[in-house]
Amino acid sequence: DSSFKVIDGKSVAKQIRDEITAEVSRMRESIGVIPGLAVILVGDRKDSATYVRNKKKACESVGINSLEANLPENSTEEEVLNYIAGYNDDPSVHGILVQLPLPSHMNEQNILNAVRIEKDVDGFHPLNIGRLAMRGREPLFVPCTPKGCIELLHRYNVSIKGKRAVVIGRSNIVGMPAALLLQREDATVSIVHSRTSNPEEIIRQADIIIAAVGQANMVRGSWIKPGAVIIDVGINPVEDPNSPRGYKLVGDVCYEEAIRIASAVTPVPGGVGPMTIAMLLQNTLISAKRVHNFE
Ligand code: NDP
Repeated sequence: DSSFKVIDGKSVAKQIRDEITAEVSRMRESIGVIPGLAVILVGDRKDSATYVRNKKKACESVGINSLEANLPENSTEEEVLNYIAGYNDDPSVHGILVQLPLPSHMNEQNILNAVRIEKDVDGFHPLNIGRLAMRGREPLFVPCTPKGCIELLHRYNVSIKGKRAVVIGRSNIVGMPAALLLQREDATVSIVHSRTSNPEEIIRQADIIIAAVGQANMVRGSWIKPGAVIIDVGINPVEDPNSPRGYKLVGDVCYEEAIRIASAVTPVPGGVGPMTIAMLLQNTLISAKRVHNFE
């Protein structure tokens, strides 16, 4: 019906980047500090290299300094830890991001634990996740993708309090923190994962759906409660002979079916993706403001 909305993550992200640009220049002009983000990339995965390049470009576009460490695939864990130690001690670095996945010979836990919690702009440090889960405690940073999902709900005036929310997926980086955030905002939250029996039945009760699975078009129109709001995190390549690349990207929710039933849906691409990077920039700014006591 006519009240249906496409949740335009691209334009919200642009608006947020403009707000960050203004804050970064206000900070530079009043105290002479420029926020800095260091990104560590190990190996030569094409997708990771693209993400890192996009993050770098995004930093430049808002006036944040970006530093980059590109380590070869066969680096040792110790070498990565040395870079982290250097950035931990560097006062011009306010955020440190280790691009995942790391090569399989490295212990991801050891490496993520080494990032100073004050510079953990990805919000993946167990202390930050632990505080996110606790009542009355505040994490220093909230993970970027789930934070972007909630920000979209806020900017589109979707009320969360008292609503039934279903998060599909329980990964450390998206599903689990998304569920914790919704719960902090007083939603009643269910989590659907690969071992859930009758997922449709649970998903159909949701006023708010956050889908973070990685399965193209898994959520069908018939699984959606009329009027539900859908945030689709999934990014899945599917064959498309009409595209010059031979493929296109789709979400975890069948968009064509969802728009007939839901009241609002994020598209893929152009929904959550651009928000993730905007939240990374925002976390870097928050970090620089906090360490310099700048309001
Ligand atoms: P993971 O593979 O780490 O987690 C997937 C989750 O989905 C798991 O919890 C898994 O359950 C669950 N799952 C898998 N199959 C099913 C199923 N058939 N029914 C219900 N649940 C299922 O993925 P991520 O969380 O890292 O990413 C999810 C998606 O989001 C991907 O498409 C990824 O590309 C995208 N993504 C997008 C970002 C953005 O910026 N827009 C950022 C990060 C990710 P179980 O725990 O039981 O294995």
